[in-house]
Amino acid sequence: MVSGIEVCIIGKVNRIKLKQGVTFALQGLNHLLWPAVCVNCRESICETDKNLCKNCWEQLLACSGGDYCPRCGRDVSKFALLGGACPDCQGSEIHFDGIARSGVYAQALQEMILAFKLSGRTELDSVLGFLGDSALQGSLFYNDIEFLVPVPLHWSRRLRRGYNQSLIIAKKLKHPSAEINTDLVRIRCTKSQPTTASVAARARNVAGAFAVRKGHNFAGRKICLVDDIKTTGATLNECAKTLKEAGASKVFALVLAVAGQNVS
Ligand SMILES: [Zn+2]
Ligand SMILES: [Zn+2]
Repeated sequence: MVSGIEVCIIGKVNRIKLKQGVTFALQGLNHLLWPAVCVNCRESICETDKNLCKNCWEQLLACSGGDYCPRCGRDVSKFALLGGACPDCQGSEIHFDGIARSGVYAQALQEMILAFKLSGRTELDSVLGFLGDSALQGSLFYNDIEFLVPVPLHWSRRLRRGYNQSLIIAKKLKHPSAEINTDLVRIRCTKSQPTTASVAARARNVAGAFAVRKGHNFAGRKICLVDDIKTTGATLNECAKTLKEAGASKVFALVLAVAGQNVS
């Protein structure tokens, strides 16, 4: 004899099983119609692989992480830091107050950033955003920041490319309170420079290239600049200088990769 309560429980269990079955069938159909592929190499992957195949994740993680200088972002053992700076940046003029980076500009990370930035492969945003987010969460300034400010492109370059890669990365960051702010603008179209260009040449190239929009809200704020690559830091430095002239109290930086470790 089955009681009323048992009938009710059996009915509920059957409904749950039916729901699970339908969900599973729909997932199967979805996978059949739009099979999940690695956003980098297009190999077939499982839904649970988080956009990249195992091989691409391994290659990407090999050039991510690692100890770095929290002032300039260069590779350095934490034991070589003196007063929060590495031997390379001791005494150098840096306008930003700290940096977080996902990795070094090499191998898989370099290839992915270039594909994202120059080949229109914007579907890589989820993976690169994940890396940027991890670096930001591990930074010393995570709880301080109020604005995420993408390093701007000149309007003519943004028109040609169709998007600003730094803004796309900024939109992928999951910060509980910091807002994206695009009131920093590039007022001069600067030349693209090779990674081998000297610090002085890069600084000259970006001098006076940025400004803030009228009515900005940067005074007294703590800001984190967002960019894809830091080479000598000339662009971040110039942006930070411009933001501080506009009244920002602190300016930090988040980049996906630090390049030009040997540029002096
Ligand atoms: Zn892959
Ligand atoms: Zn340093």
